[in-house]
Amino acid sequence: MTAAKPSAAALIAWQRTHGRHELPWQRTRDPYRVWLSEIMLQQTQVSTVVGYYERFLQRFPDVQALAAAPQDEVLALWSGLGYYSRARHLHACAKAVVECHGGAFPRSSAALAKLPGIGRSTASAIAAFCFGERTAILDGNVKRVLTRALGFDADLTVAANEKRLWQHAEALLPKDGIEAYTQGLMDLGATICTLRRPACDACPWRAPCVARAQGRPEAYPVKTRKLKRGQRDNSLLLLSAGRQLWLVQRPTPGVWAGLWSLPEYDAEAVALLLLADRGPGEIERLPAVRHVLTHFDWQLRPWHWRLPEKVAASTRSRIERSLPPGRWFHVDEALAAGLPAPVRKLIEALA
Ligand code: SF4
Repeated sequence: MTAAKPSAAALIAWQRTHGRHELPWQRTRDPYRVWLSEIMLQQTQVSTVVGYYERFLQRFPDVQALAAAPQDEVLALWSGLGYYSRARHLHACAKAVVECHGGAFPRSSAALAKLPGIGRSTASAIAAFCFGERTAILDGNVKRVLTRALGFDADLTVAANEKRLWQHAEALLPKDGIEAYTQGLMDLGATICTLRRPACDACPWRAPCVARAQGRPEAYPVKTRKLKRGQRDNSLLLLSAGRQLWLVQRPTPGVWAGLWSLPEYDAEAVALLLLADRGPGEIERLPAVRHVLTHFDWQLRPWHWRLPEKVAASTRSRIERSLPPGRWFHVDEALAAGLPAPVRKLIEALA
């Protein structure tokens, strides 16, 4: 490491002149709004989050409104943002704030971190922005900035090393101006010290930065243990009768938990089921969709079974009994529900 340390003062000055100041969640110290934005921004780009953030606030203007909403409605509004466990935790957190804290978010990072879905870094960001607490953040972007600036080359998949990086993050904190410093770190990670080809010439920490001096910023952060990605292959049944669709609610826990989706089968099983015991109507194989999730790649093979609108009640109930438990949705009702993104696309194409 170099003798000169990255300075908080330089980052604060840079943030005030070159940082972001117009994001919708920056014009407030309301912890409900800051919390909502922080959760939405995890693993999601600012440009995607803005519309969702505004729609959420319109429907749920405060934590009480969110806590009182049915989970289905929260998931429906979240639909398309991905990582749905965030939405379920968000809802659970709103309920905890109302039930255990009288509707007011706790004012310290330590207490915030005890709420569902709020990790240490998110708790610190809320406490710094809303209550001026002098506390460090360390999300994925900030890890990248700090490991590069400090030349911190220990493997971050080892918990003890991550703990040391937290200590470095704390040692860099300014005495005053925690809001601008925290925002500065976020802005630097999002706009300058990017994953590929960081814009080092525009960086307030270019002079002390170790990775830049070494000419290899992209070598940081060091993570040796690679995530092993799995593969899954399933068929989906899109059963329609006129403008009606059969949807099933996904089990909790699991992928897409709580969302409404299409009946899912092992790839081979559905073909056999449909072809061997088909009812009336047409069956069409739709193009396969590849969906990438955190831990696996999912090959989804949709089949569209178009029932005639008028089917004998006995035939219809025989078909319903052969399906996973669910219910009929009008296509418009389906599109207003919480749906996984690939399923939404299939239904939109149908609509
Ligand atoms: S100088 Fe470059 S690598 Fe170093 S912190 Fe700044 S942008 Fe990142």
